[in-house]
Amino acid sequence: MINLSFLQGSSYIVLGLARSGLTTMRALMAAGVECVAWDDNAETRNAAAAAGIKLADPDRIDWSKITALVISPGIPSTLPKPHAVAAAARAAGKPIICDIELLARAEPKARFVAVTGTNGKSTTTALIGHILHSVGWPSQVGGNIGRGALDLEPLGLGGVYVLEMSSYQLELVETFRANVAVWLNITPDHLDRHGDMAGYVAAKQHVFDRQATRDCAIIGIDDKYSAEVFRWLSKRRLAEDIAVVPLALNRVITLGVNYRAGFLQDGEGYKVEFADLPTLPGEHNAQNAAAAWSAVRWIGVPREKAAAALRTYPGLPHRQEQVAAVGNVTYVNDSKATNADATARALSSYKDIYWILGGQAKEGGVAPLAPHFNRVRHAFLIGEAADLFEGQLKGKVEFTRCGDLQAAVNAAHARTQAEAKGPAVVLLSPACASWDQWKSYEHRGDAFREMARALPGAKVLGRAE
Ligand code: ADP
Repeated sequence: MINLSFLQGSSYIVLGLARSGLTTMRALMAAGVECVAWDDNAETRNAAAAAGIKLADPDRIDWSKITALVISPGIPSTLPKPHAVAAAARAAGKPIICDIELLARAEPKARFVAVTGTNGKSTTTALIGHILHSVGWPSQVGGNIGRGALDLEPLGLGGVYVLEMSSYQLELVETFRANVAVWLNITPDHLDRHGDMAGYVAAKQHVFDRQATRDCAIIGIDDKYSAEVFRWLSKRRLAEDIAVVPLALNRVITLGVNYRAGFLQDGEGYKVEFADLPTLPGEHNAQNAAAAWSAVRWIGVPREKAAAALRTYPGLPHRQEQVAAVGNVTYVNDSKATNADATARALSSYKDIYWILGGQAKEGGVAPLAPHFNRVRHAFLIGEAADLFEGQLKGKVEFTRCGDLQAAVNAAHARTQAEAKGPAVVLLSPACASWDQWKSYEHRGDAFREMARALPGAKVLGRAE
């Protein structure tokens, strides 16, 4: 746990008691710092109180005695409508921050890597953490992924914190400075919380705030918004002496990293091939690998060691995770793909796909995936979206309505055993939310993993989760 005793004598309110709020309260309490908490959910609040956390009365906060509000990034502090406690903090002129700001203040000698982007944050963060861990570099991985920021271990001088940061968290820091800032990509998302695309880009752009001499900005430049931010960074590079490393798909670019599926080449001409790596399939993962590569190189990991560590990356659950094989049919769990954009990445990574999809549909359904339909041998529809998807697939892809996941896995197994001659993939990439039949995408993916591994003749692939 991070030591917050330097905050003794000040007083905090913590709003939101999910993972980051709870760890913040624990760290503040362990350090003897005055603090109270609030969560709108009575059950969460009562559980916290039972665990010894002092609750605030949101209507009777004496803001004159409060140093700052520590808010969970999931709770709006501005758009679409600020939470009442956040509005009161603002009216009282008090700072509104997140746990990462406290981590930065507690660890002034450590270095920080911040990873942001619309897609690929978790993968890139985990990959950087994996490489640093493999070479024995003192490091900790957290933020939006895994452990809460204040639950991490103290590192001090020479240590590196690798943090996945959403646009919300980036708006809730004051002194945090990313020694290595990684910007992967940006596409329209979460616009309700940022007003419009300009607001969303501006929020993410905070990842570069306070960067100074000897810091590094790594940026994917393949979408038009990111390309513009790269131009802005290039001007700043000269004024502020920060290194800027662009990442480009299939383009050799000065002082940048050129990548394509299973391959990257850095600014020094060093090439790394990883096309045979099942944990980093597709162009999108090559972008993540290029970003991770640039980050660890900047930190000081020798390239041969970085290349070797890339090859041992175990992957994250539910993201194109190979879970089982029956003969030459591989079962892939991509349950994290809850929208068409994410599913497009998976479909473009394989040939001869037996595709399990469905759940609670997102706007547009699977119509935008039509360019990838030629890779699909058969589709298996589950959940609420079956009617909609039937209409969108009819005449383009052969399909079977299966109702639920177990029926779909059985049907895919029977069909692949009967007709697949060469290597094939049974892919759960639903392009849908899971809530019609599951508690979460993790719940759905865990079930798929178990079902695939229980098939007759199945060989377990990947980690035994
Ligand atoms: P995030 O943490 O940003 O949600 P993840 O690493 O969890 O990202 O990946 C989620 C999904 O996003 C993956 O299943 C994949 O479909 C897609 N994805 C991953 N990396 C990228 C990338 N660099 N560009 C575009 N899409 C990506």
